[in-house]
Amino acid sequence: MKQRTYLCRSHPDFHIPADAEVGFRFDGELYARRLKESGADAVVVFGKCHYGHSYYYTDVGTRHPKLQQDMLAETIRGCQKHDVAVVGYYSVFLDSAAVRAHPQWRLQTENARTDAGFDSGNFQPLCVNSGYLEELLIPQSVEMVTRYAIAEMFYDTMTGFQPCYCAACRKKFGQEIPHSSSDAQWLEYVRWYAQCYEDFYARTAEAVHRARPEIPVTFNHEWGYKRPQPPVKHIGHLAADLISTGTIAAMHCRYFAGVGLPFEYMTGRFMHGLGDWNSNTPESLLYTAASTVANGGCFWIIDRQLPNGLLEDRAYEMMHEVFGYLQQRRDFLVDAQHVPEVAVLCSWSSVMGRQLEYFPDSKARNARTMAYEGLVRLMVEHGRHFTAMSEERLNEHLTDYRVVIVPEQDYLSDQTKQNLEQFVQAGGQLIVTQSSWDVPVDEQLLALAGVTYEGRRTLDYGYIGTTPPLLIQGKFSQVRGLPGTQMLYQYIPAMEAGDGGKKFGHGFAPATTGRGEPVVTLRQLGKGQVMYLALPFFKAYQDNQNLYQARLFLELLDQMLPDPLARINTKAQVELSVLRRGDDLIIHLVNHSGRERLGNYWYPMTEYIPEIHDIQVTIRQTPGSREIFAAPNRTPVSFQRDDGYLRLVVPRLHVMESLCAPGYFK
Ligand SMILES: [Zn+2]
Repeated sequence: MKQRTYLCRSHPDFHIPADAEVGFRFDGELYARRLKESGADAVVVFGKCHYGHSYYYTDVGTRHPKLQQDMLAETIRGCQKHDVAVVGYYSVFLDSAAVRAHPQWRLQTENARTDAGFDSGNFQPLCVNSGYLEELLIPQSVEMVTRYAIAEMFYDTMTGFQPCYCAACRKKFGQEIPHSSSDAQWLEYVRWYAQCYEDFYARTAEAVHRARPEIPVTFNHEWGYKRPQPPVKHIGHLAADLISTGTIAAMHCRYFAGVGLPFEYMTGRFMHGLGDWNSNTPESLLYTAASTVANGGCFWIIDRQLPNGLLEDRAYEMMHEVFGYLQQRRDFLVDAQHVPEVAVLCSWSSVMGRQLEYFPDSKARNARTMAYEGLVRLMVEHGRHFTAMSEERLNEHLTDYRVVIVPEQDYLSDQTKQNLEQFVQAGGQLIVTQSSWDVPVDEQLLALAGVTYEGRRTLDYGYIGTTPPLLIQGKFSQVRGLPGTQMLYQYIPAMEAGDGGKKFGHGFAPATTGRGEPVVTLRQLGKGQVMYLALPFFKAYQDNQNLYQARLFLELLDQMLPDPLARINTKAQVELSVLRRGDDLIIHLVNHSGRERLGNYWYPMTEYIPEIHDIQVTIRQTPGSREIFAAPNRTPVSFQRDDGYLRLVVPRLHVMESLCAPGYFK
């Protein structure tokens, strides 16, 4: 059965402390009417919050002590009248009430301050192996979905990956639980522990599925680019939150688009995260929403329900502005999916380590996603369409793509490398960049690129032999091209002065002259080509956002893909998404040129988005391409046919512009 698409979703948080009265004179019909008028297709209603309080008349969980009425029932009653779908919210690994009632269920870490995720210090964390799943989470989930007309279940996972030393874990693991990655049992333990979480999610999804097979189940932040694994069975959607910026939305959504499930990105209405009541700007939310929906996702606005169950007036106003904008473009958005052209590999083993050792330092784990993040930033801000995916998805769908980029991914499986070789032999284009992590170099992948590895350079920076030389911070690799491998750019060493170039004046030593050692190479193989960059190119870009580096990469990419399906020409930072809906081609342009300020040094706020004018768009001509029109009013767009391309100009881009070429793929 095809699920309805709830493009615009309101997600009010409802974590209400025990001493506040809840839901007094709450009128579900009034609430739903205002949601509908504000453009919401669906609303989240809390079954259980981080305090562990339930906001309906549960027989299984802990009812909020001052609950004045069954909020879930009353909201559903109103929402059914006004055609707003209700999504059930369930706090998974934070539940203070459950820990009070069952102290043995608590996650027991060595660190007194357990960090189980964002803002979790206020709430009690639960262990994945405790009785919680079977005694509370599953029975309560089944209670919610069988007693109430809930359309979807949303599980807010709220977990870190912290070893737990509780009795249940010790018993289930059957041996001493290691204390650090240097302990002999570490690998066995983390593999087991990760599987405990997967089993937990699978059992939850299975239980909901058995109770109500038509209900999609979502676990927030699972199976995204930070953990690029195939989702467990019965997962209906993927989702991630949190900060208000199109850059982060694109990092999640570009990966989600490659998974093949419906997905959502959500962000708070607020200025400084989820805690305050001041509004962020509509520009921040529109920008975040645009990057989400342009990649085929649905958009949520996180808000905060007042204890009486209503939202603040400014919450409805924000929804009206943001959802109104999206709803006008609905026909250009719903059911559209990425056109496969450039695939980017984001591999789980690369993030987690060859033996899936879950780099115990979470900072180290985060650092290993930086190459992917740098690539997204570079491509998104320079109008290049691509789709990211896991190793499993890439291996299944490789032949759909023309270019594959492997951005500093270590520990690829032999199967993946074999498939990549066949892909190139058959005419595919492969781009590989070299990580600088202290891991064994993949000789097989280098052989595919037509180079041999001779070690790492000593300095933490180097120069690519462009004119003028391009300084990039990062540890370059020293390689030699095999016969037949072409050198596109040579390595330029820094002057060996100032402690060998480590400290020269305020910074780096100047470039000298190259000795013919390659740093960017190209190998013809069969009908395709492999390009290799002997440096952590995308991590360096994420670190420094060097614009010359971006320009160099775009040139290299053009060499591999001279005739993309669509291309834009502008100096502004504009994201290009190319999608297909039925036989129609949909092209979205999203403006990333607004200046973001960072509240608390990390929470973005965009005050002003400048209009970009006269963006040239080129679209490869097909037999079906006859007309093009623009959102939201289906205004016909004039274009010229020229040498196999349709050329047109988008006169004005503010937040997002969308074009549709009906019948393009016929
Ligand atoms: Zn435990």
